Amino acid sequence: MNPLRSLILAAAGNDAIRNLVAKAPLSRDVVRRFVAGETTAEAIEVTRTLVASGVSVTLDYLGEDTTDASLAEQTVQSYLTLLDQLHEQGLSASAEVSVKLSAVGQALDETLALDNASRICAAAEQSGTTVTLDMEDHTTTDSTLRVLAELRRTWPWVGAVLQAYLHRTQDDCAHLTGQGSRVRLCKGAYAEPASVAFDAGHEVDLSYVRCVNTLLAGDGYPMFATHDPRLIRVIAERAKWFDRKPGTFEYQMLYGIRPDEQLRLAREGHTVRAYVPYGEQWYGYLMRRLAERPANTAFFLRALASRS
Ligand SMILES: Cc1cc2nc3c(=O)[nH]c(=O)nc-3n(C[C@H](O)[C@H](O)[C@H](O)COP(=O)(O)OP(=O)(O)OC[C@H]3O[C@@H](n4cnc5c(N)ncnc54)[C@H](O)[C@@H]3O)c2cc1C
Repeated sequence: MNPLRSLILAAAGNDAIRNLVAKAPLSRDVVRRFVAGETTAEAIEVTRTLVASGVSVTLDYLGEDTTDASLAEQTVQSYLTLLDQLHEQGLSASAEVSVKLSAVGQALDETLALDNASRICAAAEQSGTTVTLDMEDHTTTDSTLRVLAELRRTWPWVGAVLQAYLHRTQDDCAHLTGQGSRVRLCKGAYAEPASVAFDAGHEVDLSYVRCVNTLLAGDGYPMFATHDPRLIRVIAERAKWFDRKPGTFEYQMLYGIRPDEQLRLAREGHTVRAYVPYGEQWYGYLMRRLAERPANTAFFLRALASRS
């Protein structure tokens, strides 16, 4: 792994650095580039703007690795409030939610996470929208896919996420290509050992393309999450090859990253969905975004340096 990426991911776990970042006034602007805000109202506002511009949304209430049932309950409540607001504000046709099972109790007990995720799915159904289960590090993949299968018995529209960097993912794609199966394909954002994941970027890209083929050949609804211009070109070409029209798959990108490309694809008639994180626990998320791109890091460090 790139040493800068490892360093930033290590910093993500450091409380002293967190305090420094959170207090630096300019870094708040950097945060706002990638995070919609800390409150539901701010998240709704950003959603409204994106939807008005033709971009759909999936909202993530930030928080992960909860080892406390009461914090997991707070996360569930935040999603219920958000889903209610999306419905009330007429946004639920274009905005869904993304949920990390670790934020709703997966590390404590898989059954608790399933119960909590079920409450969020029931609320999403009431609001007229859907839920996608984010995928976290490889130690949680089996558990997350088990919870997904259980949720899909009641709510077949629950979306899965598969990470192209894992060796297992092409097989997982093949198992999730049934009618209407919503699958987000991403490269993968966690520091994983070589025993389970490809390390070299080109190997991850090749795996991504193999998975694109598997998903487009199936009967599901693939959601291609990448900012990579080369992969976006390959997806467009493969979609033609498999005779997939706009509306039978979608593109997804993170809020604040390549917004012009998001609009370009939307203008071409594609569904484009921005992943919009919000909430007070933005630190780990921001650090992962910085680890992905040295240019973002330089921008961030400049902002931090000018705090005095
Ligand atoms: C909607 C969405 C949901 C996700 N959900 C998950 C999840 O559940 N689990 C998980 O592990 N990961 C998730 N990810 C993160 C994902 O795994 C990657 O870490 C992240 O998307 C970066 O990979 P990339 O495909 O954009 O390619 P990268 O290899 O990071 O970038 C490839 C190319 O894209 C372009 N690019 C990238 N960033 C920028 C930028 N800031 N500005 C301009 N160009 C840029 C550049 O040309 C770059 O060379 C998600 C990503 C998205 C978009």
